[in-house]
Amino acid sequence: MFASLSPEKTDLSKMDAASLWHSLVQHKPFSQKPPKCMARGVGCHVTDTEGVEYFDGVSGLWCVNVGYGRQELAEVAYGQMVDLAYFPLTSMGHEPGIRLAHKLLELLGYEGKVFFSTSGSEANETAFKIARQYHAQTATAGSGPRYKIISRYRGYHGHTMGALSATAQAERKLKYEPLVPGFLHVSPPYYYRFGDGQPEDVYNAACLRELEQTIRYEGAESVAAVIVEPIISGGGVIPPTEGYLRGVREICDRTGILLIYDEVVNGFGRTGKMFGYQHWGVEPDIINFAKGLTSGYMPLSATVVKQHVFAAFLDEPGTDSHFRHITTYGGSPVCTAVGLRSIEILERENLCERAAEMGEYLLDKLQQRLLDHPNVGDIRGQGLLLGIELVKDKASKTPLESDIVASVPRYCMDKQIIIGRNTNTIPGFTNVLIMAPPLVISREEADQLADTVCEAVFAMP
Ligand code: PLP
Repeated sequence: MFASLSPEKTDLSKMDAASLWHSLVQHKPFSQKPPKCMARGVGCHVTDTEGVEYFDGVSGLWCVNVGYGRQELAEVAYGQMVDLAYFPLTSMGHEPGIRLAHKLLELLGYEGKVFFSTSGSEANETAFKIARQYHAQTATAGSGPRYKIISRYRGYHGHTMGALSATAQAERKLKYEPLVPGFLHVSPPYYYRFGDGQPEDVYNAACLRELEQTIRYEGAESVAAVIVEPIISGGGVIPPTEGYLRGVREICDRTGILLIYDEVVNGFGRTGKMFGYQHWGVEPDIINFAKGLTSGYMPLSATVVKQHVFAAFLDEPGTDSHFRHITTYGGSPVCTAVGLRSIEILERENLCERAAEMGEYLLDKLQQRLLDHPNVGDIRGQGLLLGIELVKDKASKTPLESDIVASVPRYCMDKQIIIGRNTNTIPGFTNVLIMAPPLVISREEADQLADTVCEAVFAMP
């Protein structure tokens, strides 16, 4: 019955085409050309089963921050599995879980509580439930439930139903709707595309006014939280305008709404600081991590709440104000031990500083060589989170057709360099090439990445 999966069969690519579902690509071409199969990774490179080596310019899915092939992370996982492979954190602790929670709070520099899950989507789901319960338990008598969550267009917050409801990229949601009620979206401060020649501060004020106006129309007393990625990542690498995060913080404070940061991509050195928000110094009430938390070596995420949020859950045994949320694998001893060591590597090797330095180098190089190209609208980013927005012409900023944009990652792949792009199947949407290499990237590797991307852009049909 499972002939295509017989154990003697060693052609992994054919087995792959027969059995694996790759969600971001069409499978029909696999009958001619099966997907590549990766076997090993070291530093910024992965090697497939044919022995071909690729430079991974997107760190897997923006997560392998310390680079591939870290023996010590494998040893930590092995040692922890031998000592204590599993124990839940629902009512008792274990050493790596305790130490990692402590480390996260130390890095954030404030008091609070850490809840572990296994993915970025779950970290966001967790935050939404915490926000709703927080309000339910702090509401004054007679007020209705604060349940609405406001996010920004182009933001991505995950694939599960709640996280997808917060996600505001039409191409990710169409065909799955209707989703969860109570999720609303406002415009992000996307200055390049929608600034319309206004001074940045005027445009920034307009974005904040839209948020405040939405809250007013909805009734602040129905809104639980606002969630933002400090720098929108998958939605096209969109950094905030100056003063934006401060403005959002002030609006949330005025209206009693919790501010959640989704730092699933931004966190752990990606933007040149340990956390993305630190570029603007505006603290959230809840912050979510995943990906770079273990550098992708183990599935782990964290939802960190400030102490004033946790205080709403603190009571005597027998009351029902505790957080009634269960995850079997969240914060497993092995995942948290690996997370701790991954952070230790980031610190020991000064990888946040390196991301800042190499990011500036790459950005500068790409801007110098590509900004005059007629189809390059904008080149932007922070640290090693970089995007090139491609347009039909600079004046209209009409997004370049998707199939032309797709020729760039294809060209790079032929040169054994993997880059990403803001994939979208809806014509007329933003089209952005994305680079987010491991933070260990060398200058020579950065040169090679920049040279190949520039060649690919100049080779566009
Ligand atoms: N939030 C952001 C900003 C992301 O980019 C992602 C995934 O790419 C998620 C949340 C969801 O994380 P996961 O895929 O681990 O569920």
